[in-house]
Amino acid sequence: MHELMTELFPICRSITGDGMRQTFEILAKQLPIEINEVATGTPVFDWTVPREWNIRDAYVKDLSGRRVVDFQRSNLHVTSYSVPVHGRFSLAELKEHVFTLPEQPDLIPYRTSYYAERWAFCMSERQLASLQDAEYEVCIDSALEDGSLTYAEVLLPGLVPEEVLISAHACHPSLANDNLSGVVLAAFLAKHLTRRQRRYSYRFLFIPGTIGSITWLARNERQVAMIRHGLVVACVGDCGAFTYKRSRRGNAEIDRAVALALRDSGAPHRVVDFSPFGYDERQYCSPGFDLPIGCFSRTPHGEFAEYHTSADNLDFVRPEELAGSLSMVVRIVDILEGDRRYKNLSPKGEPQLGRRGLYPSVGGKAANVEQLAILWLLNLSDGRHSLIDVAERSRLPFAFIRRAAEALASHDLLELLDDER
Ligand code: ZN
Repeated sequence: MHELMTELFPICRSITGDGMRQTFEILAKQLPIEINEVATGTPVFDWTVPREWNIRDAYVKDLSGRRVVDFQRSNLHVTSYSVPVHGRFSLAELKEHVFTLPEQPDLIPYRTSYYAERWAFCMSERQLASLQDAEYEVCIDSALEDGSLTYAEVLLPGLVPEEVLISAHACHPSLANDNLSGVVLAAFLAKHLTRRQRRYSYRFLFIPGTIGSITWLARNERQVAMIRHGLVVACVGDCGAFTYKRSRRGNAEIDRAVALALRDSGAPHRVVDFSPFGYDERQYCSPGFDLPIGCFSRTPHGEFAEYHTSADNLDFVRPEELAGSLSMVVRIVDILEGDRRYKNLSPKGEPQLGRRGLYPSVGGKAANVEQLAILWLLNLSDGRHSLIDVAERSRLPFAFIRRAAEALASHDLLELLDDER
């Protein structure tokens, strides 16, 4: 995952443009990816697909011709969607077009101006302070023209057409945790799922933030009805504890599955309520859709000091944290895939388990986890409770509950209910 991230990191991405296309071409080497282009000017709900932005070069040169700010050294140096400019400016004039972080004087900020036409440079406070009061040649060789918005989609069909949606924003330039970490997690989850049997169909979206999810929703309004569960994945490579933000519904199956996966893992974590601020869950959970989609992160956006700065780099994101995040999402998928309802076929009194080898013949000892799982399942399998219900109420790990259900079914004590899932 870190290797793939290292390959993607140098590319200058924005909400549109060739950086997104290059990113998706790299993902396409590993995944059955479909790349979509949506023309500038296309109406998408209350929005319009913007003009396409591309950039070749940018710099600030002193009078000796030396680049004192160089886009080739960091693509964060230019505010995303900067309009082209070329001319001579005094330091005072240039400063009108500079963003810095005075409180983090060595870091370059990441800034965008998608929907207001302007040009600006981003640099460290120290870099700005080192500029002499002189004249500078300023150039941003960019283009803001009619073109298209590019997003990528991977669909892995399952036994049923109902879908699990995994969405990652891929519109940031050289920033690692936000959100190449989410992009590579989604890509590796897709690779993992291609190799295993799937009950659900899985749809992966690699999109520009906000305008991308709005565009996808506008073009796929009918497909939306097939989404049963979903996750937005972002900021999953730092060393912070897991954070899950619930869907707007708050008690959707995905919300409960994530909480169980986190609980069962024993990993430090917190689960927080939905709020209409953050990533694309804002769009998926807008009232016109209200989809069961939460947001899975480690340290959430804005809560780590490296957020939206040049310090969110390949050293900040660690391979072992990426791997831990992927394992956790696989646990979540295991719960979604494994959740079923059963009916107890011997509901009058407990069935005699010892006779079937399901209960120890020596009495007097405290029940172990397997026995407790069996007793809870037999008791709650009245056709109304799912395995998630049993795991929550018994406080036993979901994996034990599921294994015990399979054992009881193989002894004809439980019957798997045919349900729509
Ligand atoms: Zn961001």
